[in-house]
Amino acid sequence: MSKPDPPPRVRFAPSPTGSLHVGGARTALFNWLFARGRNGVFVLRIEDTDRRRSREDLTREIISELSWLGLDWDEGPVYQSRRGGLYLPPAERLLEEGLAYRSDPDPEGRTAVILRVEPEDIVFSDRVYGPITVSGGELKDIVLIKSDGSPAYNFACAVDDHQLGITHVIRGDDHLPNTPKQLLLYRALGWNPPVFAHLPLILGADRAPLSKRHGATSLKAFREAGILPDALANYLALLGWSPGGDREIMSRDQLVEEFSLEKVSRKAAVFDHQKLTWMNGRYIQETGPEELARRLRPLLAETEWETVSPGKLEAVISLLGHRLKTLADFPDQAGFFREGEIAYDPGAVAKHWSGEDVREILAEAREAVEAAEPFTRENLEDSLRAVIARRGIKAGALMQPLRVALTGRKDSPGIFEIILLLGRETTRERLDRAREFLEKNP
Ligand code: GLU
Repeated sequence: MSKPDPPPRVRFAPSPTGSLHVGGARTALFNWLFARGRNGVFVLRIEDTDRRRSREDLTREIISELSWLGLDWDEGPVYQSRRGGLYLPPAERLLEEGLAYRSDPDPEGRTAVILRVEPEDIVFSDRVYGPITVSGGELKDIVLIKSDGSPAYNFACAVDDHQLGITHVIRGDDHLPNTPKQLLLYRALGWNPPVFAHLPLILGADRAPLSKRHGATSLKAFREAGILPDALANYLALLGWSPGGDREIMSRDQLVEEFSLEKVSRKAAVFDHQKLTWMNGRYIQETGPEELARRLRPLLAETEWETVSPGKLEAVISLLGHRLKTLADFPDQAGFFREGEIAYDPGAVAKHWSGEDVREILAEAREAVEAAEPFTRENLEDSLRAVIARRGIKAGALMQPLRVALTGRKDSPGIFEIILLLGRETTRERLDRAREFLEKNP
């Protein structure tokens, strides 16, 4: 019997030269799922050796967006820039062994260290793409240490992966061209290479590589657009991977349990904003108002909702329910719960306020609300239903004009709940204002 595989060690290795986008986040997620499902270790490594382009604020942003997405790491962040001393010894060893040589000195007398590459074909097996052959003619000598003394990218990557004991390198297929070079480095150094698994490209709906042109792509933008982290993680998991069948909504635990590299597709994945929004709506419905309020709160900073009490915020969220596809829909959907004047949607006015008896109906509704004592849902409903019965009208003939008066809209959550939440005074003010409006605009 063969021994079971030891727990894997994987890493996510962002370069802090830009924000975390869906491509990077998907790479991070796949590594995390792979580790979590196999009792493995997930390492976060910040590839910041390019000192000119790396930015500390971006490192902080990447770290906080990964946390927001619910990905945690067992080791790190490991900063490449703080490991400077680690790269020289293996380069010197290759020099001593005659496998590497020094370049001619630059004008300042500095030299680079370069690995000599023989023109032979490299064959390796990618866990996603299968066997890959790179012809020797395509390979050039590989710089190990640049003349400024810093490690070159592929060398730093191989040395780090080896020293961190990485068993599986799971990364975007834009790194496929680096893999033969890194394999040559492993071979020269006498190290066992990790397994490589390259993830397919992510495209926009027009099948061009995903970019800003296609709308939001950074995690920050999705967070600010009111996408829930679990919804985004679920959506990203399906970009290039599928559990089989047509299952789509999957909890994090299910994803962890089922994720495997075998089911990663070689075909490019298409990012579909609409589908993400749909999925997000489903997650919103499944999430309790307390958590939604907590996630919504930062989006309400500097809006008129900033000072709303937690209780009211949760109550409004509960009422809006499925009307929210993203948390960012909240201010629009919830606008009428704020005190003060509301705007009337002209379509709603035309549709529900054109009947001759609307003013009378609203006047009776006002009395019915006043009469509901104590002010409970049950009493309100009885009192308003009595108006309907007395006038012999359909429920809608009262509820719809009332809805326009209280919300300005054609659609809204249940009218009794709205009245209860607005309170008697605001309800009264709105009904008075509706009457004034109808007097002025008969
Ligand atoms: N730092 C590289 C990037 O951000 C990743 C390198 C790797 O995963 O090997 O694209």
